[in-house]
Amino acid sequence: MYTPTRRGFINGVDKVANSVIFAIGPVFIVLAIGLIGMATLTYFTVVFPFFYQWDDDYIWTKFSYYAGLLFSIYMVVCIFFHYYMAIRTKPGGVLNAGTAGAESDPTLQGLFIELEEYQEFPKTCKKCHLPKPERAHHCSVCKKCVLRFDHHCPWIANCVGHFNHRYFLLFMTYLVLSCFYFVAVGWKVFLISLDFEQEWDYWMPRPYMALTFLLAVAIGIALGGMCSWHYFLVLTSQTTVEFYNNQYAKRSAQQKGEVVYVNPFDLGCLNNLRQFFNVGQNYKYPIYTIFLPIPISPPGNGKIWEKNSMHYSTVHDDISDDTD
Ligand SMILES: [Zn+2]
Ligand SMILES: [Zn+2]
Repeated sequence: MYTPTRRGFINGVDKVANSVIFAIGPVFIVLAIGLIGMATLTYFTVVFPFFYQWDDDYIWTKFSYYAGLLFSIYMVVCIFFHYYMAIRTKPGGVLNAGTAGAESDPTLQGLFIELEEYQEFPKTCKKCHLPKPERAHHCSVCKKCVLRFDHHCPWIANCVGHFNHRYFLLFMTYLVLSCFYFVAVGWKVFLISLDFEQEWDYWMPRPYMALTFLLAVAIGIALGGMCSWHYFLVLTSQTTVEFYNNQYAKRSAQQKGEVVYVNPFDLGCLNNLRQFFNVGQNYKYPIYTIFLPIPISPPGNGKIWEKNSMHYSTVHDDISDDTD
């Protein structure tokens, strides 16, 4: 049990930590751009010329050279585009809905009217005292409620929420794929960079190659894990916060011997994926747009969410139980 003073102390430490995360936000972004930039430079000055050797006599080498160049540039553009969009896109506040929610009334009264249509008494946030739409959570770093809040990410100095989660996930995806690719085509020249008996006539000095390679391995593994985790969340239509809440709800439902808890927002793997990327059947954009570095907003305003039929049937059961 916490005593009031200990709780006060922990809250104080929390507040300081959150303020520090908020203040040093730009430092992480500069660091990330610096590291990705260095890796890109190493790739184009060492790995690329090593792996794609130009030979006038063979059509095939010329073709693979240009194909490799095009692919490499495409990956770099996708990484930086999605990184930029993840940083610059507002995740969605409760009052200022962000890009796709422009049609929403930005006043408090407008928000209440919007939510009252779906819930009799919209919940209120205990920290910012504004109405709290379903799936919204309060970010203690940004000090406001964020729509479909996932987590606050210091690497983008922004919350990951309704309007930028797509960019965040695609950024991770392209970065992880690039790390694997870097390792796959760069491991031979990495070994050469360690062997001082072999010649080194690349523009980038050996230590940079060695360092970038190790970085690609580390980031590939660490971010690969996180990226897979986020795909799991997308496929099951949960945010990181909701995952823990749902685990708790499942456990308490089991303990009470009730019907298994159903995540109301789970529309089935494929539909969850379509909804997240806003592509394919019933959604706005064609599937190939996932592969294009273009701005695409998620469907809906992030305040009101479609529920599955299982949810409605359990809600109905609850109501009939109450009336019995
Ligand atoms: Zn709040
Ligand atoms: Zn935040």
